[in-house]
Amino acid sequence: MTKGTPSQGKKSGKKNFIRCRRCGKPAYHVRKKKCSACGFGKTPRMRKYSWQKKTKKTYTTKLR
Ligand SMILES: [Zn+2]
Repeated sequence: MTKGTPSQGKKSGKKNFIRCRRCGKPAYHVRKKKCSACGFGKTPRMRKYSWQKKTKKTYTTKLR
C-alpha cells in the first residue's frame, strides 16, 4: 500500500458518494442512503451543528 498518485487508481469503480439533491454536495452515501453534509435521508431537517463555523451572518457584531 503506497500513498500518492499510484494509489489514486484504486478510486475508480464503485462510488459511495453521489451528489446530494438537497445540498448539492457530493456527500450523499449511496449504500447508507443519507447525506453526510446535510443529513438528507436521515433527518427531515438540515444537518446543522452549533459548533459548525463558517456560517454567514451568524457573527456577533460589537455594538459601540
Ligand atoms: Zn446533502
